[in-house]
Amino acid sequence: MTGNLFATIAGMVDDPQAPFARVPGGGSFTYGDMLAWSGRYANALTKLGVKKGDRIAVQTGKHVDCVWTYLACLRCGAIYLPLNPAYTPSEVAYFVNDAEPGLLICEAAGCSVLHAELGARAPLIETLEADGSGSLQSLASMQAAGFATLPVDGDDLAAILYTSGTTGRSKGAMISHENLRSNALALVDVWRFDASDVLLHALPIFHTHGLFVAINTVLLSGASMIFLPKFEVTAVMAALPQVTVMMGVPTFYSRLLAEPRFDQQTAQHMRLFISGSAPLSAETHRIFTARTGHAILERYGMTETNMITSNPYAGERRPGAVGFALPGVTVRIADPATGKPFADGEIGVIELKGPNVFKGYWRMPEKTAEEFRPDGFFITGDLGYVDPDGYITISGRAKDLIISGGFNVYPAEIENALDALPAIAESAVIGLPHPDFGEAVTAVVVARQGAAISETEIRGGLEPVLARFKLPKRVIAMDTLPRNAMGKVQKKALREKFASLFLT
Ligand code: AMP
Repeated sequence: MTGNLFATIAGMVDDPQAPFARVPGGGSFTYGDMLAWSGRYANALTKLGVKKGDRIAVQTGKHVDCVWTYLACLRCGAIYLPLNPAYTPSEVAYFVNDAEPGLLICEAAGCSVLHAELGARAPLIETLEADGSGSLQSLASMQAAGFATLPVDGDDLAAILYTSGTTGRSKGAMISHENLRSNALALVDVWRFDASDVLLHALPIFHTHGLFVAINTVLLSGASMIFLPKFEVTAVMAALPQVTVMMGVPTFYSRLLAEPRFDQQTAQHMRLFISGSAPLSAETHRIFTARTGHAILERYGMTETNMITSNPYAGERRPGAVGFALPGVTVRIADPATGKPFADGEIGVIELKGPNVFKGYWRMPEKTAEEFRPDGFFITGDLGYVDPDGYITISGRAKDLIISGGFNVYPAEIENALDALPAIAESAVIGLPHPDFGEAVTAVVVARQGAAISETEIRGGLEPVLARFKLPKRVIAMDTLPRNAMGKVQKKALREKFASLFLT
């Protein structure tokens, strides 16, 4: 039996006429179309000389052809390597030099700059455009739809996703066919996906969330999706009546809540709202429930591990918590220094083992070894604890832990307290160098519309709920928080921006 994920996907298609994807303004595709287009792209890749194990780098906008290319890579045993379209040519050059792809797919507009940047090291380059033009699309359109999917081992690589690399070099996470299959099947099961579901897909597809969590879950349940080029409130509002499930990053939900037309009626027919990739504030969770009657289901994962935990489908979806380990996944909270498991309630580093855990960092065996314990557990670098009911809560990245006057301060706890104050829309808590305390707890906040930020009032609001050593020494108001494409607050950028606040 083959371990090829595509064989599982194809094996589940029982009605080729069933809808798979609708691209507003760009057509509708059935499961039969998915089989045929992935076949044509697989034949095109083969014509271009792509062989098993070759990396195929893709830097384009969000097109349905990228889905065919991803599936074609699975079918050929090639390794799909998506790149954020925001990367500059010199950043792309780093990834190309590191991964040495046999083929680079990009939009024509960026092609010549990339060629110039890469020089003699440039791989074969083909183009893929949103409007149906491009050399790869032309070639694929001329191919036969039939393609014999290559048998591969479940441990063979299906994709390499580069981590965002906030510290040091960006690392290529090697993801296998079995990593993806096991995780998608677990999600289909715990989130109860079936063929009657229609997913609203507004996420980018160069990241694990939009690419694997969303698309593989749809494919392995026979569901369908409305494939939007990006999250844009008007388009999302227009699509909502036609979908049953939405997956989003927390900013999608705060943007929907800022839209007065988004109310109980808009959300009434929905089966499920899912959030992940960044912390969903308990406050946003509560406001969303009050407005719509739906409790957002928050889950937690990372590029290296696919999804790790999820709040329950049936049962309490606890605001501020990320729920329980997925079936087949073992999670423990451990001493960051030694890896010794902690008792429930203690804050430690989140570690896990399971079929979802990646195969290591591309060409970085030492770095890979550093991230695993001798007993095989992967060290996520996230801090968290298990509450008495077994729910896991994330306290922040280990790198963002603040040590002030010798005390540990966990940013998530302070951010939750800040977000509950009426004047504050969102917050990020960071540690800044301080001559006495080592690090000073500092709050960066965004005011709610019409509210004014008073440092004294905010500290006064926190005093009843937080111990003294946790109180922010300073509160800085900003118009917006710096976030990356997945809605994650860029704390490193904030630390750099305000680095000398307490030193002058
Ligand atoms: P990435 O590899 O870009 O997907 O980032 C993974 C990181 O995002 C994790 O290690 C967490 O720090 C963070 N993350 C993902 N989901 C959540 C969540 N539900 N709550 C808090 N942090 C999250």
